[in-house]
Amino acid sequence: MAGFYILIFILGISFGSFLNALEWRLNKGMSLVKGNSKCPKCNRQIKWYDNIPLVSFFVLKSKCRTCKENISWQYPIVEFWMGIVFLFVSYYHGIYENVLFGNADMLPFIDYIIFIKDLVVVWVLTFIFVYDLKYMEVSDLVTLGGAAIVFIISLVTGGDWFSLLLGAVIGASFFLIQFVISKGRWVGGGDIRIGLLMGAILGWKLLLLALWVAYVIGAIIGVALLVLRKKKMKSPVPFGVFLTFATFIVMFWGQKILDWYVNIIS
Ligand SMILES: [Zn+2]
Repeated sequence: MAGFYILIFILGISFGSFLNALEWRLNKGMSLVKGNSKCPKCNRQIKWYDNIPLVSFFVLKSKCRTCKENISWQYPIVEFWMGIVFLFVSYYHGIYENVLFGNADMLPFIDYIIFIKDLVVVWVLTFIFVYDLKYMEVSDLVTLGGAAIVFIISLVTGGDWFSLLLGAVIGASFFLIQFVISKGRWVGGGDIRIGLLMGAILGWKLLLLALWVAYVIGAIIGVALLVLRKKKMKSPVPFGVFLTFATFIVMFWGQKILDWYVNIIS
């Protein structure tokens, strides 16, 4: 059992490492597949043994081996997070019990594909979160590509395609309308694509909940930053950070939150 979870964790941190590399290349407009990893400062090619997820950062004491330039904490944090979150998704789907050793009630094949879809979703959400936080930008490739992949897998695995499609339309329209009215001052074009992606992940009902959660978290953090005088009233906010975080929460606990709410009002 420990061995299984260690493997999942290693898979997670590897995808975290891939995420970091892709963000860098996408932002610099570099080829996404060609070429080896290089130090951004001294341009020296990074050897495989200095490129081991999570481990190398600490072995190198967060500095490039050649030029001693600091390596960003983004690298180990994102890698560790992806490792933990891959473990969580495996646990959530009962993959250890049902897939490998649950002879009695094996999950049907479809459930494995849904498990993989959820791994893709958490990777895409993390990608958008980090990219928006760091560059205040949203990648079309990842949002639209992610939405297409998630929607197609949901179609194949018997998801409620109408709810997902309606969610995508509502999610995109919600931001498009604000974008048009404010001439792009309230929300960015990237938010329209994130809204579309959120609908394709959650379906229309949970999408509405996720938007509400995002605005509540955004308001709390916004007020906190104002009080701490970190931001002025007009400072631009990377809203994709709140949207992706809310999507993650609602994806796994949304139904519970709705049930809880219905219990309270009835
Ligand atoms: Zn260097």
